[in-house]
Amino acid sequence: MATDPGLEARYGTRVHWLETAPFTPRPDLREDLDVDVAIVGAGFTGLWTACHLLEAEPATRVAVVEAEEIGFGASGRNGGFAMTLLDMSLAHLRRNHGDDAARVAHEAVAVSVEEMGKTVASESIDCDWHHGGLMVVATSPGQMARVRADLDAAGALGLDDFTPLSSAAARARVDSPTYVGGLYEDHCAVVHPAKLVRGIADLAERRGALLFERSPVDGIRESSGRVVLTSERGSIRADQVVLATNAWAVGTPWHKHRVVPLYTYVVLTEPLSDAQWARVGWEGFEGVEDKRNYVHYYRRTADGRILWGGSDGVVYRGGRIGAGLDVNAKVRDRLHSTFRTTFPQLADVGFTHHWGGPVGITPSFMPICGTLLDGRLHYGLGYNGHGVAPSHTVAKVLRDKVLHRRSPLSELCFVDSDEKAFPPEPLRWIGAELTRRALLRQDAALDAGADAGEMDPLLLRFVNKLS
Ligand SMILES: Cc1cc2nc3c(=O)[nH]c(=O)nc-3n(C[C@H](O)[C@H](O)[C@H](O)COP(=O)(O)OP(=O)(O)OC[C@H]3O[C@@H](n4cnc5c(N)ncnc54)[C@H](O)[C@@H]3O)c2cc1C
Repeated sequence: MATDPGLEARYGTRVHWLETAPFTPRPDLREDLDVDVAIVGAGFTGLWTACHLLEAEPATRVAVVEAEEIGFGASGRNGGFAMTLLDMSLAHLRRNHGDDAARVAHEAVAVSVEEMGKTVASESIDCDWHHGGLMVVATSPGQMARVRADLDAAGALGLDDFTPLSSAAARARVDSPTYVGGLYEDHCAVVHPAKLVRGIADLAERRGALLFERSPVDGIRESSGRVVLTSERGSIRADQVVLATNAWAVGTPWHKHRVVPLYTYVVLTEPLSDAQWARVGWEGFEGVEDKRNYVHYYRRTADGRILWGGSDGVVYRGGRIGAGLDVNAKVRDRLHSTFRTTFPQLADVGFTHHWGGPVGITPSFMPICGTLLDGRLHYGLGYNGHGVAPSHTVAKVLRDKVLHRRSPLSELCFVDSDEKAFPPEPLRWIGAELTRRALLRQDAALDAGADAGEMDPLLLRFVNKLS
C-alpha cells in the first residue's frame, strides 16, 4: 500500500488515519482552466458534491481544488462516526425547529448513513465501514436526564430506531463501570475516515472530476457573469462555485462572522490483545458517546485499537487554524486520564497517537447551506463537529442548487436559513472562551453527580446573546 511519505515532514503531525490510507498524489493547479463547476475543498462535502453532481449529470465539467491534500481537513482525521446528530441533541433539534422539521432533518441524515453504506459496497470503497449503531451512554444522573430527553424526543417524532439501555445492557455491549444507562440508535456506522475520503476522491475522478492538490485558492471574484478562482500558479473560470472549506470558511468575507473554528482532539491506543478485548467486549463495533457538553466519543478500529476523543474543545485566539495546533498537550493528558477512568480494566494499554483538527461551529449549532453571488456561489459547512454523514446530505443539497432543482432537501431547516452571526473579534474569542469554561464547569458538576440535566438557563441566555 502506498502511503504519504511526507505527511509528518510537511505538517509535523502524525494522523494514524492519514498514515494508513492508500495515497495517490494529484497534480497542483498550474493552468488556467474553464469548467462548469469548481469546488473549493476536498473533504467529504466537496467530494460528495462532485460525486452526486456527476452521477446526476455525467457531462458536467467539474474541478475540485484543495489547499493541501485530499482529506487533509477534518474529513481525514475524525472519529469516523457516520451518525445522525444535528444540533446539540435530538431533544434540542426538536425544541429549536419543531416536530416536522426535526423529523425530516433527522431522517434525511439517516438516509445518508444508509446511502453511504450502499455506495461503499457498490463502489468497492475499502474503508472498514462497520454499521454497528451508536450507543449514547450516561455516566451520571444528570447525563441520564439528557438521555431520557432524547428518548422522549424520539418517541414524540415517531422514530423507531432508538432503544433505551439499562446500565447492564450498555455494559453488555461495552464494559465500563461508569455507565449509568443509555440509549442505542441504529443509524450509525464507524469507518476509517481517510480511506473513505480518498475512496470518494477516486470515485469522483472515475466519474470525470478533475482533482488538484497543494493549490490554496487565494481569490474568488465575479467576472462577466462567471466566477474566477485564483491560486498561486493557476486559475479556474466556472459558471458556478461550491465552497466546501468548513472551518476554513472563517477566512472568507461571507463567513467570517458565521463560523468559528474549534479544535477537537483524539488519542489512539496501541492495538489491544485478545485478552484485553475480552475485558471490554465491544464485539458490535458500536460508536459510543457520552452526554457531557464536551462529549467523549470513542470507537474501536479495524486494526484493534481504541480511538478516544473529545472532553474539551479549543477555539484559538483570533479563530486561528494552523499545523502547530494539531496537538495540545493539556487536552491529550486529559484524554489519557478520562480513558483510564472509563476503562480501569485497560490500565495496561498504552497510547501511540494524538492529533486534532478544526471543525466549524455555527451560532445555531446547525450546518449552514446557502447561495451567494446571484446564484453563482453555493456553500455548505458548519457541522459543529458532526459532519461525516450530514456532509453527504448537504452535498445533495449543493447538487440540487447547482442544477437549479428544487427537491424536498431544499426545504430542510438548515438550507437557506436565517443565519445568525457571531460578534467580531476580540469579543468572539472572549465569548467563546467564557462559554467553554462555563460548559466545562457544568461538565465537572455533571461528572460529580449533579442533576444538571440541561444547560443552565443563565448560560443558555449568555450563549444566545452571542448570536
Ligand atoms: C478530531 C475530529 C474528530 C471528529 N469526529 C467526528 C465523528 O466521529 N463524526 C462526525 O460526524 N464528525 C466528526 N468530526 C467532524 C467532521 O470530520 C467534519 O464535520 C467533516 O469532515 C467536515 O467535512 P468538510 O468536507 O466540510 O470539511 P473538511 O474535511 O475540513 O475539508 C475542508 C477542506 O478545505 C480545504 N481548504 C481550506 N481552505 C482552502 C482554500 N483556500 N483553497 C482550497 N482548499 C481549501 C482544507 O484543506 C480541507 O481539506 C470530527 C472532526 C475532528 C477534527
